[in-house]
Amino acid sequence: MAMDLQRFFTRDYTFEMILFCIAENVLLLLLTILIGRCLEGSWVRFDLKEKRIALAVLIVNCLVTVCGFYLYLFGFIRFNVNRSLIEIILDTVFILVGMDFLMFVFHYVAHRWQWLYRFHHLHHEHVDTRMEDLFQLHPIEALGFGSIWLGFIVVFHFSFIAVVVYLVINFVWGLAGHYSREMISSRYWISKILTNSAFHHRHHHDEEHNYGFYFTFWDKLYQRFIVKRIGK
Ligand SMILES: [Zn+2]
Ligand SMILES: [Zn+2]
Repeated sequence: MAMDLQRFFTRDYTFEMILFCIAENVLLLLLTILIGRCLEGSWVRFDLKEKRIALAVLIVNCLVTVCGFYLYLFGFIRFNVNRSLIEIILDTVFILVGMDFLMFVFHYVAHRWQWLYRFHHLHHEHVDTRMEDLFQLHPIEALGFGSIWLGFIVVFHFSFIAVVVYLVINFVWGLAGHYSREMISSRYWISKILTNSAFHHRHHHDEEHNYGFYFTFWDKLYQRFIVKRIGK
């Protein structure tokens, strides 16, 4: 199947692939609104400013996806096919941990460097979040996250399936982080390792904590080795 899919990742299908990149991102926005309606209990009511922001983020996401396709066409992004199941799982874990670290650093400096916070502040206008807030961030910040992702898969070559699995997890976790209710009960041990809704909600309420996206350990290491050491 991977070989069949590869057929579409060629110059012969450039137009179709660009349409696919746009359709995929439109679908993700519509899915976010629909899942938000089902789980939050009401349709989101974007005001004009929020509609513009969501549209701008959608355009940036489309550009990043199309850019990823061209990076593949020109040989900067390569996928490993015919990987074993174990290798696919290891690739997925590596992507999750690596991307979480890079996004943690980017998010942390976005709060520390004033010129970056000017962009990030937009996402913090919503203190009590809903799933649709996944699309409420400055387009420059969306471009920053997209660039980190593209840079990561230019440097490292992963299984195509692992990349798709990561993108699905990234979307689901983005929704979960902004869900107004808890996704994983704090009674379960896994909630000590994985971030949940409360973890990201706390960040929206207290910007000094919880910069991670998938795992809690980068924040724990930061608190233990940086904050305590400098007596902050
Ligand atoms: Zn923040
Ligand atoms: Zn948020």
